[in-house]
Amino acid sequence: MPLVGTAGHVDHGKSTLVRRLTGRDPDRWAEEKRRGLTIDLGFAWSTLPSGTVVSFVDVPGHERFMKNMLAGVDGFEAALLVVAADEGWSPQTTEHVAALHALGVERAVVAITKIDAADPDLVDLVALEIDERLAETSLAGSPIVPVSALTGAGIGDLEAALDSVVSTVPDRSGLPVRLAIDRAFTVPGAGTVVTGSLGSGIVATGDDLELMPAGRVVTVRGLHRHDEPVERAAAGSRVAVNLAGIGRDDLSRGMMLAEPGTTTATDRILLELRAVPDQPPPDERGAFHLHLGTGVWPVVLRPVDDGAALAMADGPMPTAAGDRVVLREVGRRTVVGGGRVADPVPPRRRRDALALLDRLVPVAATPNGRAASLLAAHRSAAVADLRRWSGGGGASGATVVGATAFAPGVLDELADRAGPLVDRAHADHPLRPGLRRAELASALRITPEVLDHVVGGGGLEERGAWVARPGHRPVLDDAQLGAWSAARRVLTEAGTSPPRADELGLDEEVLHFLYRAEELVSVGAFAFLPDTIDQVMAIVDALGDGWTVSAFREALGTSRRHAVPLAEWLDARAITRRDGDRRSRRRPGPG
Ligand code: GDP
Ligand code: MG
Repeated sequence: MPLVGTAGHVDHGKSTLVRRLTGRDPDRWAEEKRRGLTIDLGFAWSTLPSGTVVSFVDVPGHERFMKNMLAGVDGFEAALLVVAADEGWSPQTTEHVAALHALGVERAVVAITKIDAADPDLVDLVALEIDERLAETSLAGSPIVPVSALTGAGIGDLEAALDSVVSTVPDRSGLPVRLAIDRAFTVPGAGTVVTGSLGSGIVATGDDLELMPAGRVVTVRGLHRHDEPVERAAAGSRVAVNLAGIGRDDLSRGMMLAEPGTTTATDRILLELRAVPDQPPPDERGAFHLHLGTGVWPVVLRPVDDGAALAMADGPMPTAAGDRVVLREVGRRTVVGGGRVADPVPPRRRRDALALLDRLVPVAATPNGRAASLLAAHRSAAVADLRRWSGGGGASGATVVGATAFAPGVLDELADRAGPLVDRAHADHPLRPGLRRAELASALRITPEVLDHVVGGGGLEERGAWVARPGHRPVLDDAQLGAWSAARRVLTEAGTSPPRADELGLDEEVLHFLYRAEELVSVGAFAFLPDTIDQVMAIVDALGDGWTVSAFREALGTSRRHAVPLAEWLDARAITRRDGDRRSRRRPGPG
């Protein structure tokens, strides 16, 4: 169901025309009636000759209420631009058209209204001016239809023109639900209600939705579309949603209801920027309001390149890549640009953002396309983050390890970086099996799980806690072998009373190599020969249950200095069980 927004100068006849087209009064509020102004968003709907039901969001034209106008344009697929024949193109016509242009709205019908009150020649002149004014904007070439809401003249032609324009509006009901909240109130008996234009998706009673930027889950208790209770409503509908799980005080215009996990909250955005004709491009000197969804945030801009800028806000904005925005200069109260969110989580520095730009701009049309661009830019991302950043896109085409997606080529690059790190470890420490997995993972800033993929693809292999080149074999050189023979002689002689390991004349690397090769057993500060350990085990078996360290020491024929670490070593390996100062051999088998 297409959503058409009105635009045009105050009093040019927008609301009257919508009333004529729909038979419904978009000016709902008593105060508006009294003041003769549409101060908030009005809406009405009708069935076009083709059978298409179209919703009109009627926005106010008064300068003071430009903010409301912008709150209404989110979700517009097409515009109905109204210009009064008797007054012609006016200042707010310029500003509204600038906003539509900045948003990238390309579908529009222009109604020259009040033709009953103007000379036909004047109507022709107004049409010429409109055509000329639109030429430089996204609305260039829009059909222009003269009408009178008073007499009904031209209304049939206007409906036909609307029909043909809205027939090209894409159906967004297959996308995740997004509803920018424009009003929130309490209905006695029903509870909390919000209204908005459903930008995409299908919302149904019972659905859980995520309120952003708070990230709170709320439930759709009831639903109205066009003032009728319904079970479900599709993209393009004006809806009122009765929410369970939240009070009116926690809701306001600018918040977003979205399918959980498809929108992010961010204080900075990389924008694909579109300048407005006849306005200098926005730069970092100005103070700007960023209009996004139904909300408005003061932002500072950092131009990144022609056609791109970082927008920094003080608080979190609910958004995803692809969202349309308008920038308004605060001082001059003028629309100076707009565009789309290219990246809702960009790097803070301009230079870093610039490096990513060609992957992000132009912004892809679909959530999956945007997810792919964002992944290409960020190299890797949690799959859940990618879905939030892209407005519901998936990581298809990416390599996914655990919960993390990697852009094509990223794991290969990591493997390319891992190889030299391992080579370096082999060169620096030839006696070690390689580089410790944990060390390699932290050097590459990846998790151990991802490391498995990197190792497989990098001409490397795993050796327990180590990563190595398949050809690497640690061996002792002649000098090390000589030292080891000497040390072995000493140890054989010393039996259960060896010198400390650091007194064996073996370098630390050699010692650890021998431990790994099980040529030596490390026991506290000592190194024992495996044969000696076998003797110790036999003695333990012979001692039976309930022996003390001094009995153990006597049986070994050694000192306390050796007996204590040996006993602790036996405990640590669960060979013995300690109970107070007595130990017993654990029975083999479980328990
Ligand atoms: P809006 O501010 O653009 O919504 O303008 P309104 O719809 O409130 O109309 C402003 C004034 O123009 C009202 O007094 C309308 O009665 C009058 N008006 C609207 N359309 C026509 C028309 O086609 N012909 C004439 N003569 N007056 C119109
Ligand atoms: Mg009005």
